[in-house]
Amino acid sequence: MSESQLDVLRGKIDKIDEELLILLNKRAKIVESIGKVKETQSTKRYDPVRERQLFDRIAQNNEGPFSTTALQQIFKQIFQVSLELQKDDNRSALLVSRKKKPEDTIVNINGIKVGDGKQQFVMGPCAVESYDQVYQVAEQVKKHGIGLIRGGAFKPRTSPYDFQGLGFEGLEILRNAADAFDLKVISEIMTPSDVEKALDYVDVIQVGARNMQNFDLLKEVGKTNKPVLLKRGLAATIEEFIYAAEYIMSKGNDQIILCERGIRTYEKATRNTLDITSVPILKKETHLPVAVDVVHSTGRRDLLLPAAKAALAIGADLVMAEVHPDPAVALSDSAQQMNFEQFDSFMKAINPCVNVFN
Ligand code: PEP
Ligand code: MN
Repeated sequence: MSESQLDVLRGKIDKIDEELLILLNKRAKIVESIGKVKETQSTKRYDPVRERQLFDRIAQNNEGPFSTTALQQIFKQIFQVSLELQKDDNRSALLVSRKKKPEDTIVNINGIKVGDGKQQFVMGPCAVESYDQVYQVAEQVKKHGIGLIRGGAFKPRTSPYDFQGLGFEGLEILRNAADAFDLKVISEIMTPSDVEKALDYVDVIQVGARNMQNFDLLKEVGKTNKPVLLKRGLAATIEEFIYAAEYIMSKGNDQIILCERGIRTYEKATRNTLDITSVPILKKETHLPVAVDVVHSTGRRDLLLPAAKAALAIGADLVMAEVHPDPAVALSDSAQQMNFEQFDSFMKAINPCVNVFN
């Protein structure tokens, strides 16, 4: 075969490839439209019966020289990338996604901004136990120039016999102690019907790990205009976490902080496994600020500082830890709360790490 004959044949192949390219993308556009229809009908994207029909049609119409098996493999590949396309399309439609809104969302907690590039802290006791206890902690939090205080009034405890929190009385204590030092309040609400009343006491509603998929609660906080700190579920994938945030945003509230707090794995050296790379993944996939809770992830006081350093280095917008006047007698999480001296050392060591890598 002469060079020119080869060029002619290759030219024909190039032409066909161009046509195939156009046809494949034409097909892909129809696939996307089908994806949208399936979305409205809540139909499963993968339809094995439909795929079997397409395979049978290939077998009936195949005139060679490709074998039917070879063609079916090629088409299987086309079907798979088509399904991915439907998935991607669905994902890009999420309100929380970076694709939907490329610029960062800044959560404004009555003047304190989370997600504006300045890395922040939220500190406070695990649980609100008394006015005196929270007042002492608030004083320390203020001393370190931190504007956000946390404290649980509704405690999600594994055992029903453990301290369950002071409820609304606890929220009132927290509010009053915080007001004495002009601090903003973050506290967990567990029950949808408590959300409205809680709005009078908190500046940020925390949705705890155990409630990440309490869809009624997510919808309820989504109807408010209070910032929400949404914690990752105990065994939630990043995708499930993102969908939980979507529940909130789909009801109109875009003031959401995502909080990585460790996930349950086979590792027993820590209480949970801090999934540190979830921070850049969440920041890439969504436009929301991301917090890291170094307390409930590690469950170990000796790991609070290295975990907080890692969180700041990897780009977390907010770091959460717990402080108690006397952790040994704390009614919850006594193993990992810091006393005031430890809190001082922690802040002295962590302050130089703030905004170093971003
Ligand atoms: C908390 O922050 O008080 C808490 C209970 O954390 P989590 O929901 O992450 O376990
Ligand atoms: Mn705790």
